[in-house]
Amino acid sequence: MNNKQLIVILGAGESGVGAAILAQQQGFDVFVSDAGAIAENYKTQLQERNIEFEEGSHERVLEIIANATVETQCIASLQIEVIKSPGIPEKAPIIQAIRKAGIPIISELEFAARYTDAKLICITGSNGKTTTTMLTYYILQQARLNVGLGGNVGKSFALQVAEENKSTNQQINKSTKYYVLEISSFQLDDMYNFKADIAILLNITPDHLDRYEYNFQNYVNSKMRILQNMTANDTIIFCADDEVLVQEMQKHTTKAKVLSYTTKNDNTKQGFLSPPKGDLGGLITIQNTETLLIDPNSMQLQGIHNYGNSMAAAIAAQTINIKSEVIRESLQTFASVEHRLEKLPFTVRGVEYINDSKATNVNSTWYALESMTDNVIWIAGGTDKGNEYETLFDLVSEKVKALICLGVDNTKLIESFNGRVPVLVETKSMQEAVEKAYELSQKGDTVLLSPACASFDLFKNYVDRGVQFKNEVRNL
Ligand code: ADP
Repeated sequence: MNNKQLIVILGAGESGVGAAILAQQQGFDVFVSDAGAIAENYKTQLQERNIEFEEGSHERVLEIIANATVETQCIASLQIEVIKSPGIPEKAPIIQAIRKAGIPIISELEFAARYTDAKLICITGSNGKTTTTMLTYYILQQARLNVGLGGNVGKSFALQVAEENKSTNQQINKSTKYYVLEISSFQLDDMYNFKADIAILLNITPDHLDRYEYNFQNYVNSKMRILQNMTANDTIIFCADDEVLVQEMQKHTTKAKVLSYTTKNDNTKQGFLSPPKGDLGGLITIQNTETLLIDPNSMQLQGIHNYGNSMAAAIAAQTINIKSEVIRESLQTFASVEHRLEKLPFTVRGVEYINDSKATNVNSTWYALESMTDNVIWIAGGTDKGNEYETLFDLVSEKVKALICLGVDNTKLIESFNGRVPVLVETKSMQEAVEKAYELSQKGDTVLLSPACASFDLFKNYVDRGVQFKNEVRNL
């Protein structure tokens, strides 16, 4: 018998609805509340299962809290648990009210993990989460393991756990189940007893500081929560090139096995990169359970950051004893994820076009520029998140022949790069930006959309921005 009778779910998106379905399956009363409008497909899923919900306000949740507090004289926490969508900030009035009533708040991942025995490979970092998660998932699929993909990507983890439980009850599936989970700091904030079997920490650079009282260490602490509860049977994999991570790992005591990787030539790490020698274009070595050598030029994912991401995924795969041949072949066949350094499958007048719309901060744009081998026409700009562009100056001087600013307010970009690029133009729509890029480019150049900014001034989101870019390039 569950001692918490009612699960209240805030936010009826993919994770909230998945959590509602799992909670109902586990015998809880469930109430879902969304301050905005609930998308039709999610509403249907709730209605089909007779799960109660409200939309447009959290009014009924406030009533529930008030009643519970009165009836139980402040022991509401024994009766109710709240699962919160990661998009809702701590300072939201509804969260404040729930905290005041002493009701525990957890994330969908924390909740779902209670109901599965599957092995959890968990990936966090400021940049590269989706790429590394998808790549790891792909390797496990290629190894024919029983694997699900969840967290910030794909179907909700909770929904998959509900489905898994159904099939386990029917005795259909007995092989070890894995989940590869992309986990953001917002989810980690509401995770307490969750335990990763393998945790990958990619990097920590300032991001989302508005949610962390503008204190970088708060954000760092949140990311490091991915390591909580890990035991001697578990494995931590981290990037040894990231100074913040190196320092944090020095402070962190753990019984888990700690492995690391570097894009430098350091064979004390489980993954490292030897520099090119003569005609040989460098070599990635993975030495965890076996020694795996791979020519980075033979991989689909290019750029030094992606070599790191690939090492992380490969070390994780070796940890669960996937054979080197399968890993190598996977690294050679995994195509990039849409909107992340996505090379368009054609050239226009000998010019290559790359969609890196997901580069919403300076760090990810740094890696995009770093990986460019041709002259670059760089399309950048959007909603500034307090960007400091100095780190890009050298790469821009070396590689960028024209900067096309695409945003409502381009002041900061213009102030930063005026005089540092031969040509700088302002545009106000994707069509205009792509047409300008076409005019300014010549055979052998690359047009790179890597905005270093959020997209909300001119686009719905980064996906809309990337899709518009690709459409405009096709229209050339
Ligand atoms: P996330 O899910 O963490 O936002 P993505 O895989 O979606 O990460 O990539 C976001 C952006 O960051 C893309 O522009 C991508 O090219 C870039 N990127 C990918 N991996 C890394 C990395 N290890 N370090 C820095 N930037 C990266």
